[in-house]
Formats: sequence, C-alpha cells, structure tokens
Amino acid sequence: MATHTRAPEAVGRILVIEDQPDIRQLIAAILKADNLEVSFAEDGEAGVLAAQKNPPDLILLDLMMPKLHGYQVLQALRAHPATQGVSVVVVSAKAYASDKRKALEMGASAYLQKPFNAKSLREVVDQQLTKAVLTFWGGRGSIAAPGPTTLRYGGNTPCVELRYRGAQIILDAGTGIRPLGVSMQAAAAGKRLDINLLITHTHWDHIQGFPFFTPAFVPGNTVNVFGPHSTEKPLEKVLRGQMDHEYFPVALGDMAAKITVRDVAMEPFQIGPFTVRAAYMNHPGMTLGYRLEAEGLVVAYATDTEPFRALLPTVDPGEDTAEFGRGQDQELVQLVRDADVYIADAQYSPEEYAKKTGWGHTNYVDAVIIALEANVKRLVLFSHDPMHNDAEIDRKLAHCRALVAAAGKTMEVIAASESVPLEVLSK
Ligand SMILES: [Zn+2]
Repeated sequence: MATHTRAPEAVGRILVIEDQPDIRQLIAAILKADNLEVSFAEDGEAGVLAAQKNPPDLILLDLMMPKLHGYQVLQALRAHPATQGVSVVVVSAKAYASDKRKALEMGASAYLQKPFNAKSLREVVDQQLTKAVLTFWGGRGSIAAPGPTTLRYGGNTPCVELRYRGAQIILDAGTGIRPLGVSMQAAAAGKRLDINLLITHTHWDHIQGFPFFTPAFVPGNTVNVFGPHSTEKPLEKVLRGQMDHEYFPVALGDMAAKITVRDVAMEPFQIGPFTVRAAYMNHPGMTLGYRLEAEGLVVAYATDTEPFRALLPTVDPGEDTAEFGRGQDQELVQLVRDADVYIADAQYSPEEYAKKTGWGHTNYVDAVIIALEANVKRLVLFSHDPMHNDAEIDRKLAHCRALVAAAGKTMEVIAASESVPLEVLSK
C-alpha cells in the first residue's frame, strides 16, 4: 500500500511440505534468517499432521507428493478448524493455468512456479507474512439467516476478524463469533489466548454469539471486551443480562477465562500494533464505529449507521436539511477517510430504504457515495439484509460496481462473504 510509512519486516513460522530433499535444502538456505522459523514435512500426510498439531503462520505446499497430493492436503487444511485460516502458497512445477486456478479456488493465497529463484521465494513469503487478513465470520444484519439461499455470503450476524502480523482484533460478537471461537481454540494448540473484542453496540445481532464463544470458557485465556459506555446500563451489565438464567444456562461470571469489559472513550487507544479510534454512529442507542491503524494499514468498521443526508430531509424536507445532513455525515467520512478497507452498512436497496427510513441503516447507494467521498480503496458491503439471498447480494454488488465505474473511479467493491477472506497485501 502506498500509505505505508515503512515496510514491515516479515516474522513468522513456516511449514514446508515438500518431498524432494534438494528443494527442501534450497528453501532452507534461502529463508535462513533470524526472524523466520522454518520446519519441514516430507509428504502430504505428515504435513497435515504437523500443521494441525502446531499451526504455522504460512505453509509452502508442493503438489505432486506421496501419500497425499497437494490438493488433498489443501482440502484437509481448509476443513480443520486449527488450520482453516493458515495461509498456503502452492509451490509447484506444474505450469497449467487450470492448476493455478484450482489451487486459488481451493483457498491457496498464491502460486509459486518451480523452478523459483531466491528473490521470488523471499518476495512471496514476505508478502504473505506481512499481509492483513479480514475474515467475515458473519456479515448479516438484524438476525441470522442461514439456509440454502444464503450459502455463499453466509447467514451469521456480525463478527469480523482482522489479523495482521500475528496480532488479532475481533469486531462484534454476533453469531459468527461461535465458529471463530472454535477455530481459534483449535489453532491455539494448548497455548493461552489473549483476545481483544471490540463491540460497536449491544443490539442482539452484535452480541448474541458471545455466550457461545468457546475461548471464554477456557481457564487461562483472557478476553478483553471494549464497547460503548451507556449511562443507564453499562456494557458489562448488558452482556451479563443476556446470560441471565431466563435466557441462558451459564452466567457470564461462570465463563472460566478472565473477562474484562472496558468502556471506549473518544481518545485513541492502542491494542497491540493497532491504534483504535472510535466515533459515534447515527443508529438508535449508543453505537460506535471503529478505525484501526497499524503501520499505515487502515481498516474502518462502521456498520449500523444511517446517513444524516438521507434521514434529515424525510423529517424536514428541503435543500437545507440535506446540506446540513451532509455536514453531520462528515464525522463518518473522517472516520473512514483513505481507508484500505471500509466495512460499511449497506443493508438496504434504495427502494427498501424508502420504506425503512429511520430504522438506523444505510442504502447501498449512499454507502458507495460516502466511500467515494472518503477516498477509500476497498468498500466492503456489510450488514446484509436477512431478506437478501445470494442472488440479491450479487445484484447489489453489481449495481455498486456500476456506480463506481460511472463515477470514473477505481475503488474496489466487494460484498462480505463468510466463504472468502479478504487479503490486503502491504507490499
Ligand atoms: Zn443495531
């Protein structure tokens, strides 16, 4: 990214699954550095076992190997909660476009053609170890909508995981936090977890998964929850409330991890490498949006908000109110300004918004307009309406891309999908 102030140094553990001894030696020689820990498996089966036992940061995977072919290895890695999120680079002599496509479709992050030179191997390893990965464990607004018509984009309510150079932040605790917790606990391989969870607000769809977040039940783990302060009912009381015995069999206090709940103030604060800044959203109740920055990487998560520019003219029609509304929206524009990724409320179509004005959500046309105004690089359509099936979200996405093209801009638009993580390369 051009906005990077300095190129971060790659640090991490790499597992090389490769049957040819000379290639293993070559990789070991090229990647010999203090900041990289490289281990080897000599066939596919041994590779899967080694990865599951102690998940590395990156796997370099050959295709044609004894016991298990590389594709089978990739399939096994993606199917296991401990390794489903581990980045894989396929390293193969096979030069067919169909093989490269298949590897990427199966979840590889990159394909390195053999024979490779030292520079190309170092480059791909560097890229993989310094990239940011956003996983949308849930992107559905209001209520979960699982079923055959929402398979591709997914039906879980909001939960986004940001991983960057070994650090992790979780955004919201909708039903998507349940599978995330399963995956984290499996990948921890017995190690203690120190978890940071940012809550935007306490509407059900943003906290309902928390009682099912497995790492919170594991002694030795720490869960730091950050969220908006409310005078009538502090965040801790709300989280406790949804676990009262009328609603849930286990109380918050019975969760065996150390759980701390902190109010977010308006001053920026630090979580690991991230500087976190919050702003209030225009949504019923106390709702925050977040801007996370680390070494020039900027991710903004500003969902559950309704643009003043759309809402105010419906209360008091006229050019003045629209203009005043645009002024009020500047806080949101500033929060997401120049972001590499802006995860935005895009729940309604314009026609639906006309019927649901004042419900606290955005129509996707406004999401595009605000993202363009703020000069963001990638807009992620988020908070999908529970009534929208996969085909409907495809249409919404196509419409948004057409709007960007019509404006003569190059901003990338994607729709949050539980099946496809978003990788942001930093170099
Ligand atoms: Zn809400």
